[in-house]
Amino acid sequence: MAITMNNWILVLNAGSSSLKFALVDAITGDSGFEGLAERLGNTDAVITIKSNGNKSESKIADGKMASAIAMVMSALPADTVPAAIGHRVVHGGEKFRQSVVIDDSVKAGIKDCAKLAPLHNLANLEGIEAAQQAFPNLPQVAVFDTAFHSQLEPQVYQYAIPQSLYRDHHIRRYGMHGTSHQYVGEQAAIALGQDFNNIQIITAHLGNGCSASAIRNGHSVDTTMGMTPLEGLVMGTRSGDVDPGIILWLAQQQGMDGDQLSDLLNKKSGLLGLSELTNDCRGIEEAAAEGHAGAKLALDVFCFRLARTISALTVGLDRLDALIFTGGIGENSELIRARVTEQLSIFKLAINETANADRKRSNPNIAQPGTTPVLVINTNEEYMIAKQTLSLCQ
Ligand code: AMP
Repeated sequence: MAITMNNWILVLNAGSSSLKFALVDAITGDSGFEGLAERLGNTDAVITIKSNGNKSESKIADGKMASAIAMVMSALPADTVPAAIGHRVVHGGEKFRQSVVIDDSVKAGIKDCAKLAPLHNLANLEGIEAAQQAFPNLPQVAVFDTAFHSQLEPQVYQYAIPQSLYRDHHIRRYGMHGTSHQYVGEQAAIALGQDFNNIQIITAHLGNGCSASAIRNGHSVDTTMGMTPLEGLVMGTRSGDVDPGIILWLAQQQGMDGDQLSDLLNKKSGLLGLSELTNDCRGIEEAAAEGHAGAKLALDVFCFRLARTISALTVGLDRLDALIFTGGIGENSELIRARVTEQLSIFKLAINETANADRKRSNPNIAQPGTTPVLVINTNEEYMIAKQTLSLCQ
């Protein structure tokens, strides 16, 4: 790996039981060092590190986040000193509308936002504190998953429930996956030879978690995730939108409590719940092709809901300059791209089958000539976090 010292950013994404990390060149996006610590908090925690093509796996004896970060630090290539550390933080609430250099008041703010996303933000904070201990001399930056959606208007972010819940508890739509929506939106503008600040597009981030956004003149004007990442599209194990009356019925008629409802809607629903087979989209497609009824149903619901949602997101735009697919499903599933665009022909969307099937496409636009561009763009949240971190530390 070529070392240009001041451009290397160590990007950390600390979850409740995992830590994803990558050393990224904030100018080029290159990364020769990355990995994942899993099952943190358990006795069988492990860390996998890929460095310059070599992969190694080690146990984390005490299973602690701080130990995982210390192991990352000691495994960094010998001649590489990152210029700074960029942390993915899930919820910035109404407080953080852009990335910030972390100090004590920022940490207190992130903790405050943990009321809205307890699991995520407290894990992010643990990652920040461990990184501050491991790298006391490096600047640390928080990049918020909600920030790109921070200019949503009240008609988009308010739920039709008593306003006191917004005033007293900040209950509103925030939206997530912002770093990914912004990154692929910017890349789409470059690919189309247009200015990101003048383009009107819809981005569909389809992975284990799924969300779509309407982007207008450089910022998100509508998005499907809400106060939490449970709202919106059908996901791997998350339900997305359901009639809130169902939740009341389950509580009142079936006696389910908060934990049981959370487990049902976050972990047992979505593609998994519909198919009764798997949350993995590739597995769903394979089973559907073999005639599995549940897998077929899961695909039908996933595609219909996605198409219907994309159509609803056009309300925030004057015109549709392009539709962008990203995330593990959006980048790889020829079938879902084809089905969803077919259902949206009203918006002059039509894809070219050969371009859609070409995995090594050099042109990201898979639309038929003369129709609305449909772009497949690989997301790269780590690169985006590295770029924002470097820009705040220069
Ligand atoms: P992500 O969370 O972005 O890593 O995306 C994970 C999802 O992408 C899983 O549901 C995978 O099954 C799905 N995926 C990856 N490759 C393919 C593929 N070739 N066809 C369909 N789905 C895929």
